[in-house]
Amino acid sequence: MASPVLPLCAIYGGTFDPIHFGHLMPVEALAKQVALHQVTIMPNNVPPHRPQPEANSQQRKTMVELAIAGNPLFRIDDRELKRSTPSYTVETLEQMRDEQGPLQPLAFIIGQDSLLSLQRWHRWESLLGLCHLLVCQRPGYAIAMDTAEQQRWLDAHSTADVAELHATSAGKIFLAQTPMYDISATAIRQRLLKNLPCDDLVPAPVLEFIHRQRLYSKAS
Ligand code: ATP
Repeated sequence: MASPVLPLCAIYGGTFDPIHFGHLMPVEALAKQVALHQVTIMPNNVPPHRPQPEANSQQRKTMVELAIAGNPLFRIDDRELKRSTPSYTVETLEQMRDEQGPLQPLAFIIGQDSLLSLQRWHRWESLLGLCHLLVCQRPGYAIAMDTAEQQRWLDAHSTADVAELHATSAGKIFLAQTPMYDISATAIRQRLLKNLPCDDLVPAPVLEFIHRQRLYSKAS
């Protein structure tokens, strides 16, 4: 569907427990590659049957706000945190599609690990009908999909053409050439538990907040 006048709207979902440089730096590089004017960070409400984040919703939201303060590339959308029910990405994207109309180019940003596990997401087959997927590289994760069938699905939807992402509203997968950061929220939580420094992993205002709130300081 052609929609050349509407700027590509990019959403970056995750637990952000806590947000770290492995989230922020690849997406800054992605934004340059794809000419994104804005990236909307959307912390999720974790379904009750999954391991719960150590920080509560308000704390995760505050950490995102501290991490992006003064950086006009990013904004936050806390709609999933406001719901009392767990939110599935596909349902939030449906809501956004309804709000923005069929012509709005929409993209959901994920890391390579999420691409590999995407076919376990709730109603994953509907995702590309709603948005493009922009994939950041992540060290330690395979480039190829797990099965030949999954790889065929990826190949069928992949594009290296940035213009196509802007000119169509959904349906493409863009594997970005982003710098690799071997950082995970899990490793950060483990380091904090052992009182190891995390200055190179987490923005300073976020780290100060973590210490002030005594987050991640007890074994869960
Ligand atoms: P955890 O260790 O708690 O599972 P995480 O560090 O993987 O957390 P999430 O909040 O679960 O962070 O991830 C949100 C999104 O960010 C996912 O799409 C994930 O693939 C991506 N992401 C997280 N860390 C990196 C990284 N170092 N490089 C590239 N993408 C990343």
